[in-house]
Amino acid sequence: MFAIPAAFLALAGAGPGALWIKWHEFKIRSKGSPLPDDLRNWARAMGVYRPGRIRFLEKESVPLPAPMFLRRIVSRLGFPATGISGLCLRRGIYLEAGNPNTEAVLRHELIHTRQYQEAGNIFFFLLSYLFQCLTQGYEDCAMEQEAREDAKARPAIKDPTSSPGFRGPGIA
Ligand SMILES: [Zn+2]
Repeated sequence: MFAIPAAFLALAGAGPGALWIKWHEFKIRSKGSPLPDDLRNWARAMGVYRPGRIRFLEKESVPLPAPMFLRRIVSRLGFPATGISGLCLRRGIYLEAGNPNTEAVLRHELIHTRQYQEAGNIFFFLLSYLFQCLTQGYEDCAMEQEAREDAKARPAIKDPTSSPGFRGPGIA
């Protein structure tokens, strides 16, 4: 898609999309589980800020925004409308229940959490994400490529309890 119509479409989707994300992030964070220790340490080593605040929640099917105009955007991105294995809503992550690759999906979604943090807020993340997907395609867009690549990274993880800044358990 050309840049200008893509920019308008991304702008139209990012406002309502950001509200939807905020609401679901809140639901996941009130009902979901914290990351297991090894994934939390991995996320921290990959540059995710305060991974101890992230929660994930398994769902029979991962919810997507219901309004039709957003669904159309979503399908333009090449997303399957149903049957997706994970969805990152900043500090809340939806996982499809029964997926055998939970850990790989979580690593991928955690890189998206980092992208939200780099963008500064949900709206700006969504704006660039939608714009990239519309102009470059879902599979080929830079943010998806980064998530796929970085999810495979195995950084050297130092024991957080040995760092001078450590102030006791539960510090993320
Ligand atoms: Zn992704």
